[in-house]
Amino acid sequence: MSIELSRNYARDLDERDELASFRAQFINIDPAMVYMDGNSLGRLPAQTPQRVEQIVREEWGEKLIRSWGINWFNAPIQIGEKIAQLIGAGTGQVAVSDSTTVNLYKLAMSALMLKPERKKIVTDTLNFPSDLYMLQGCSHVLGGKHHIQMLEPADGLRVDTQRVLDAIDDDTALVTLSHVVFKSGAMYDAKTISEYAHQKGALVLWDLSHSVGSVPVELDEWGADFAVGCTYKYLNGGPGAPAFLYVRRDLQSQAISPIWGWYGQRSPFSFELDYSPAEGIQRFLTGTPPVFSLLSIEPGVDLLLEAGIQRLRKKSIQLTTYMIDLFDASLADMGFSLGTPRDANLRGSHVSLRHPDGYRINRALIEEMNTIPDFREPDNIRLGMTPLYTSFQDVWESVDRIKRVLSEKRNLHFAETRLKIT
Ligand SMILES: *Cc1c(COP(=O)(O)O)cnc(C)c1O
Repeated sequence: MSIELSRNYARDLDERDELASFRAQFINIDPAMVYMDGNSLGRLPAQTPQRVEQIVREEWGEKLIRSWGINWFNAPIQIGEKIAQLIGAGTGQVAVSDSTTVNLYKLAMSALMLKPERKKIVTDTLNFPSDLYMLQGCSHVLGGKHHIQMLEPADGLRVDTQRVLDAIDDDTALVTLSHVVFKSGAMYDAKTISEYAHQKGALVLWDLSHSVGSVPVELDEWGADFAVGCTYKYLNGGPGAPAFLYVRRDLQSQAISPIWGWYGQRSPFSFELDYSPAEGIQRFLTGTPPVFSLLSIEPGVDLLLEAGIQRLRKKSIQLTTYMIDLFDASLADMGFSLGTPRDANLRGSHVSLRHPDGYRINRALIEEMNTIPDFREPDNIRLGMTPLYTSFQDVWESVDRIKRVLSEKRNLHFAETRLKIT
C-alpha cells in the first residue's frame, strides 16, 4: 500500500492544515461519527447555544419590546452585510429574509416584471426542484405566457457553458441556475454567463445555496443582477434559518418585490394605508423575521469571515481532491462512478459517488457505520466537505467505511423502498 492511502497520511494532512483549529469551534458530541452532510445542515457552532440563551433570556425576557429598537429590527440588513462579504457584494445589496424558495420567487418575479416583453426563462434540469417549481409558479401567476427552457446536461454534471449561452436569445427575460449544482457539485462559469446574458438584454439570478461559505463568489464582479442562498448549509445557521437575497444596487430603484409587506414599506412605523416601497434592499423584505433563527446565523458567519474564503477554498479543493484520489484507488472498481467534475476549478465542496445500490449503501453508512452523507436520486451518495470542520481523517474514514459496507455486504440489510426523508 502506498503511503498516500494510509490513515497516517490523512493524519499528516490534518497536522499541516492551517484551518484545523476551527473544528473545535463546533459542537462535536460523538467524535467517532463521520459527518459528511454539512452541505445540507451545517454543524452547530459552539458559540450559538450561548447566543440563543442570551436572545431568549436577556433580549426577550428582560428587555422585551425594546430589543426591536436595539438590535432586532435591523438584523436582516446587518447580518446581510456580513454575508455580503462572503459573496463579493458591496454594501447595501444583501438582506436576510424568508426562505431561499420565497426569495427566489420575489427576485424571479422582479426580473420578469422588469422584462415584460420577453417570454423565455433559461434554467437546467439539475436545478433544485423547488427553484423549478417557483419558476413554474411565476409563469402561472403571470398568465402562463412564459416558456421555461430547462437545459439537459450531456454529462449529468452541468450544462456546457456554450450551450447555456446558445440558449440565451433576444426573447430571454431571465437566466437562473444554481451556481454549484446540488447533485453533482459542479460549478457554473457565472461571470461568462452573466456577461453574455447582459449582452442579450436578459437578467441573471444565481442560487448560491451550495456556494456560499465554500467557494469564492464575486457577485459585483460577475455583474450578477440577483442572487439567493441558504444559511443552514455551509454557513451553519441552523435548521430553517432564514435565507439571504442580493439585488444589484443600480437595479434596486426599478426592481420591485411581488410581496408587498410592511417590512419593505418606506416607513414601516407610519402605518400608512398605501404601499410605497423603501429605498434600497429593504424593499425586498416582507414581514417580521424569525428573530431566534435570524440572529443564530451570526456566529457561523463570523467563523467563516475569520477563516477567509480564500483559505476555505484552498482546503476545500484539497479535501475534495483527496476524496477523489481515494475513490480512484479503492472504490472505482466496486461499481462506483464519480458524479462530480475531476477538474477542481469546476466543482464546489461536495463529491457525489454514484452506485446502482447507492440508496442502500447510504442507509448502511448511516445506520451501521456512524457515517452521515446523504442520498440524492437516482444513485448519488453525496459527501459534503465543509472546510471549516471536515478533517482529512474524516475523508479517509468515510471512504474506508464505504468499502467496508460493500465488502461486508451491509447494504443488503436494507430495503430498496425509500424512506420519506433521505
Ligand atoms: C438547499 C437549497 C434550497 C433550499 O430552499 P429552501 O427554501 O430553504 O427549502 C434551494 N435551492 C438550492 C439550490 C438548494 O440547494
